[in-house]
Amino acid sequence: MELNIKMDRSKELFEESKKYLVGGVNSPVRLFKPFPFFVKSAKDCFLYDEDGNEFIDYCLAYGPMVLGHANENILNAVKSQMDLGTAYGVPSEKEITLAKEVINRIPCAEMVRFVNSGTEATMGAIRLARGVTKRNKIIKFEGAFHGAHDYVLVKTGSGALTHGAPNSPGIPEDTTKNTLLIPFNDEEAVRKVISENKEEIACIILEPVMGNVGCIPPKDGYLQFLREITEENGILLIFDEVITGFRLSKGGAQEYYGIKSDLATVGKILGGGFPIGAITGKKEYMEQFSPNGQIYQAGTFNGNPISVTAGIETLKNLDDKFYKETTKKAGILSNCLRETAEKYNIPAKVYNVASIFQVYFNDKEIVTYEDAKSSDTEKFMKYFYTLLENGVFVAPSQFECCFTSIKHNDEVLEKTMNAIDIAMKKL
Ligand code: PLP
Repeated sequence: MELNIKMDRSKELFEESKKYLVGGVNSPVRLFKPFPFFVKSAKDCFLYDEDGNEFIDYCLAYGPMVLGHANENILNAVKSQMDLGTAYGVPSEKEITLAKEVINRIPCAEMVRFVNSGTEATMGAIRLARGVTKRNKIIKFEGAFHGAHDYVLVKTGSGALTHGAPNSPGIPEDTTKNTLLIPFNDEEAVRKVISENKEEIACIILEPVMGNVGCIPPKDGYLQFLREITEENGILLIFDEVITGFRLSKGGAQEYYGIKSDLATVGKILGGGFPIGAITGKKEYMEQFSPNGQIYQAGTFNGNPISVTAGIETLKNLDDKFYKETTKKAGILSNCLRETAEKYNIPAKVYNVASIFQVYFNDKEIVTYEDAKSSDTEKFMKYFYTLLENGVFVAPSQFECCFTSIKHNDEVLEKTMNAIDIAMKKL
C-alpha cells in the first residue's frame, strides 16, 4: 500500500535501517506497513519527519511526553546537569528529591527504588512480592503488558499482540507455569484461581486501566474487590502504573480510584522523556530489597542523574490545572470520536479515562482482552492511515492507546477533529 504523503526519505532510511536493525526498528510497536516515517525532530505536540511532514502526536513516545516534546524547562535543567556529570555510580542529592516527590504523590509509596525502565520495575516488583511472601505464583490479566521480561510475557497486549506473538518463544514453560492468567474485570475468575492455588500466590499485578489493549477501564468496584480479596489471602497487590502513574492524577490510578496497593511500578512520565522506572510501596516490603534485605535488585544506571533531573522538572509541572486541562482535551476528542462514528453509522466504542482514550471498531462493550481482540482491526488501520495522511499520528495499533499533552491547544484539537471526520467518512 502507498500512503498519500511524501515519504521518499523515510523509505530510503527504512531500507537502510532494515539491513542493520531487526525489522528496521528498535521496538516492534514502531513498525507499520509499508514503513514508518522517520522522525527528524519533535516540538510540543508535533513530530516532524525526514520528508518535511508535520504530525500532531497522540502517541507521545507511548506516554511520557505529557509536557510536549523538547520542553524548554526540562532541556535547560538537563543541560545544566550534564555539566555536572551524567552518571556517578555513587548517590546524589537529586535522587532523594525525586524519591520524596514520588512518595508525596503516590498513596502506597513509602520508599522508592529507581531503575531504568518499566520492564525493570515490574520485574523487580514481582521478585519482591515473591521474596516477601515466599510464594512463586503470580496472577496476571490477559492482555496486560508489564514489559518484555519472562515472568509476564504471556497473553500480552501491545506490540506482541499487534505482531501476532502474544506468547513469546524463548521463555521456558517452567517460568510461565507460575503465571496464572485470567480475564480482566471478572470477579469470579479471581475467586476461582485463588481458591485453586491457596497460599501459593505471591501477587496480583495489573494495569489499573488496561492501556496495552487499547483503553479498558476497570468496572465499578473491581479494584476495590481486588484490594479486599488480596488482603484476605495474604497476596500482594501490585498496581503497574507505568502508563497511569502521574497521568490519571497526581497520585496516578491509586488516587484516581481511591485504592491503595501494596506496591506500584512507574516509569514513562517519571523520566520526562528520559529512561527511568521505579518500584515503590510499603516500607515493610521495600526494605526487603538489598542492601537492607536479601532480595536482590541492582543497576549501573539506577537513579541516573539526567533522568532524575528531567523527572524532577516534569513532576513540578503536573498540578491540578495540568490534570484538568489534559483530561478536558481527551474528553473533547473522545466525544468527537463517538459523535463522528454515529454520524457515519460506524459501530464504534470509545473509552476515555483522564487523558487516555481509544476507539474500538466494535458494536459491543470492551471489558476484556477477548473483547478488544474481537474489534475490527483492519478498520482501525484504515482509520490510522487516513489520520496520518491528514497530519495526525496515533499509535499504529488497535492495541495501544492515545494520550493528550498540555501542548494540544484548541487549534490542534480542531485540526484533529477534522482529520477524524475525514477518516471516519472513508471507513
Ligand atoms: N508496564 C506497562 C503498563 C507498560 O505500558 C509498559 C510499556 O509500555 C511497561 C510496563 C514496560 O515499560 P518500558 O517500556 O519502560 O520497559
